[in-house]
Amino acid sequence: MPRDNFAEPREQEVSGATVIARALLAQDVKYMFGIVGIPVTEIALAAQELGIRYIGMRNEQAACYAASAIGYLTGRPGVCLVVSGPGLIHALGGMANANINCWPLIVIGGSCERNQEAMGAFQEFPQVEACRLYSKFSARPASIETIPFVIEKAVRNSIYGRPGACYVDIPADFVTRQVDVSSIKFKECCLPPPISMADTSAVNMAASVIRNAKQPLLIIGKGAAYAHAEENIQKLVEQCNLPFLPTPMGKGVVPDNHPNCVGAARSRALKYADVIVLFGARLNWILHFGLPPRYHPHVKFIQVDICAEELGNNVRPAVTLLGNINAVTQQLLEQFDKTPWQYPTETRWWKALKEKMESNEAISKELASKKSLPMNYYTVFYHIQEQLPRDCFIVSEGANTMDIGRTVLQNYFPRHRLDAGTFGIMGVGLGFAIAAALVAKDRNPKQRVICVEGDSAFGFSGMEVETICRYNLPIILLVVNNNGIYQGINTDTWKEMLKFHDATTRAPPVCLLPNAHYEQVMTAFGGKGYFVQTPEDLQKSLRQTLANTTEPSLINIMIEPQSTRKAQATSFCSCSASSLYNRWRRWGQTSRLRIQVDLLQQ
Ligand code: ADP
Ligand code: MG
Repeated sequence: MPRDNFAEPREQEVSGATVIARALLAQDVKYMFGIVGIPVTEIALAAQELGIRYIGMRNEQAACYAASAIGYLTGRPGVCLVVSGPGLIHALGGMANANINCWPLIVIGGSCERNQEAMGAFQEFPQVEACRLYSKFSARPASIETIPFVIEKAVRNSIYGRPGACYVDIPADFVTRQVDVSSIKFKECCLPPPISMADTSAVNMAASVIRNAKQPLLIIGKGAAYAHAEENIQKLVEQCNLPFLPTPMGKGVVPDNHPNCVGAARSRALKYADVIVLFGARLNWILHFGLPPRYHPHVKFIQVDICAEELGNNVRPAVTLLGNINAVTQQLLEQFDKTPWQYPTETRWWKALKEKMESNEAISKELASKKSLPMNYYTVFYHIQEQLPRDCFIVSEGANTMDIGRTVLQNYFPRHRLDAGTFGIMGVGLGFAIAAALVAKDRNPKQRVICVEGDSAFGFSGMEVETICRYNLPIILLVVNNNGIYQGINTDTWKEMLKFHDATTRAPPVCLLPNAHYEQVMTAFGGKGYFVQTPEDLQKSLRQTLANTTEPSLINIMIEPQSTRKAQATSFCSCSASSLYNRWRRWGQTSRLRIQVDLLQQ
């Protein structure tokens, strides 16, 4: 028999780009966001060929925000694909945000050819080192053959333990070079993250501390949302009749309209609770560090978290429950199944919380009912809330827009709210909305994404409207426009100022162009734009756009440039919008900027 019949089939060759795409697919990566260019275009093409969705964005930062939101919403990291040097540097904001939010993310950065390193190659930059500060794991595969090994490790690291960002560096010469497929060490999909449970004696102790609480409170954070702990946490809330407070992105784990939700009495609940159970929420600035005067000096904290290093940060907890939130909540439920217990309804604590909720809600309602024009924030949010579909994703960013919107716009489902998060980052809205719309398209094509943006926040990633229109995503952008950052000035004052002064020396730094027609950014790309100034126009445009299930739209909502939050017992944080603004005003009174401030006050 001729020897040829026994010969091995000719070894198949594959490019480095294909190896990367196959490795990502093997790890169940479904979405890739990025901006192509030298040397990564082939990677995007190879990914698309294998069925990974590639979404071309307009700025790497927004691409990275979108990829990180995919990680939070699906539990599987999205990929952000960027070019070398500046491309990667633009993505660092997104990486930092993902890491600080504890969201999984994979960034793949092209880099210069290895044989040009240290020679001043095109866009050469120490990328692996640069990413270390912003990630859990940052590496370059030693060869094309080991790419699958590094990608599996990056994906596994991004979802195991406390989730976070991982970086994989791909030198240009890896991308197009062909190698024998048999030389590649392909890896199977990593196992799902192992479920860890808390020590039984700690669970017993926690149950006993809860049973003895006089003024208990559960705080539900975005870690609980990420952990899919909604069913168990709601059971615990109801079985034990406990008041709960969601953090900004913890909203919806248990619906906002649940009778045990005390969101409208937030400050009081925090200040007077004697036992607080934290489900996946850190005692950072968002929760005022867990310290007096915002908390009772002797409050007992029970911390539930997957990250041991988090336990004991800023306070000495009464009990620590290290483990997966869903599993630990199940452990707690078992305790309360064995020896049932319920916090009584007729207590001074429930009464105090309910009274405060009623009075706060009454103030908000009164502000919302104000008929004067331009509208205030409360009027705007009241009308939006009235028409929002219950299952919509709400993405929100801005200063007052986000803070006030959080109190009025309700969430009924977990992982349906995305905002500036732990990093307090601006510019995330459009990237997050794009990610949410893609997830919605796959799960429930009728689901809408409502993206509520301050006019300043919108500006950071405004060109992503083109991306939204290109992919025809069902996103409704609402730009709450007060002509500025925190506060702005009206057109007449602006024009008056320009008559006598140069804007660069006199325009208050918080101001943006009054009456900007942001809706035209949407119409420029074929979407629908609305410019609204009255509640009637707002209602009408919302009705129209919600009836239209496919077309992206932008409603530019003009509000009173000086509109603010209702008075707070204590400001949300030491650098909240209003306190910053007041500081700036006080400073203005004693400086040569007084004229500027006077103009503002007209
Ligand atoms: P929030 O902003 O809502 O207050 P944080 O981001 O501060 O929430 O806290 C989320 C916490 O949840 C982090 O400390 C993180 O380690 C933790 N976490 C994330 N996933 C899980 C999980 N599956 N089980 C337990 N804890 C988790
Ligand atoms: Mg504004």
